[in-house]
Amino acid sequence: MIRACVPMALQIVIDDVGWWTAEDTSTQGGPFRTAMPRDHVPADYTAIIELGRRLNMRPQAAFVLCDWDRENILAKIPSATWMGNNWQNPHRNNPQLEEAADLVRTHPDQIEPTLHALGHEYWIDGLPTRAEWHDRSGQMRSADDVRRHLDAFGKILDVNRLGPFPTAFVPSAFLHRFGVADGGFAAILAEYGIRYLSTPWQRLFIDRPPEAPDFGFDAGILTVDRGNDACRWFEVDPRPNPDAFGGPIIGMHWPNLLARNPASNGEVVERWVAGLKPLDVRFDRLLGVNTANAFSQLVHHRWVELAVSDASVNLDWTRIAKVGGTGLLKTFFLKIQVPRPVRFSAENLRLLAVSEEIPGQWRLQLERPDSPPQGRITVQ
Ligand SMILES: [Zn+2]
Repeated sequence: MIRACVPMALQIVIDDVGWWTAEDTSTQGGPFRTAMPRDHVPADYTAIIELGRRLNMRPQAAFVLCDWDRENILAKIPSATWMGNNWQNPHRNNPQLEEAADLVRTHPDQIEPTLHALGHEYWIDGLPTRAEWHDRSGQMRSADDVRRHLDAFGKILDVNRLGPFPTAFVPSAFLHRFGVADGGFAAILAEYGIRYLSTPWQRLFIDRPPEAPDFGFDAGILTVDRGNDACRWFEVDPRPNPDAFGGPIIGMHWPNLLARNPASNGEVVERWVAGLKPLDVRFDRLLGVNTANAFSQLVHHRWVELAVSDASVNLDWTRIAKVGGTGLLKTFFLKIQVPRPVRFSAENLRLLAVSEEIPGQWRLQLERPDSPPQGRITVQ
């Protein structure tokens, strides 16, 4: 008898990467930043890359970019920072910018620059309001200003050569509205090439129900529930709560991956690795190699119907073939438990890779056509 499962993949999302100053100035009209007891250093980027390397993942680094504005372009967007039109980035000549940018550039498979914010909040006449993209009642900021912010985010990425505009987005302060009839913010994000969005759904404003309990499509953007984080946002050197490892996303904030002394960052990374690595070989889970892969796998996990017999697995993806997510991949993973020796063959599916991840448990990477929406794996 064999067992089969389309496992749920996991992606890591790390918020508020990009600040150089760490101090929380929210009580003085400034941003919260990361509230670390020290400023950030290039070793804090190495921590993300090391986490990615050890887990063979590409964690999302949800960037806040105002501290990277080398040309003070944000002076033209007074809503973007606490200094308004008087914006002068104190870090614009910081040589560590180049050092950190080089780390990001040279490790494209271990860190995924992700759209988060410029200054994180939205300043009106010099006073901060939560947050940059939507207000606390779920009202989008003016479309013109939203576009100015997105353009500036892309410009700062370009100037620092931090890669193309991201395909993934995390709303700052988790303020976002799903399913707006005229498209809303999601439609604007889609114009900029965003295909994947994640946020805790208990904080989401919803105009229409999403398609599934933990994902939905909005203007083609695959929107995924982040669930609860394993730590509080300001916790440095934390003990992550494994109860938070059950969903498709491990959400955290940058300090959660770091130590007070940057030389000890590796110890914090190791603790996360020890917690997350076992998920990769669990029958019903795996670690996604990147966002496209992990979020697409979630859709397959929910919507591929399996019928298992003694020597075959029938797969039916009729529901997936009907949706139009712009970033939805046609590749996905299937796990099969069967005693050795064994050989797999596929009908109406391409078998891209097979590996025995633990004795008697196999990981198959498959590619499906849109139609017909059924296929079969035969075990011999
Ligand atoms: Zn944030």
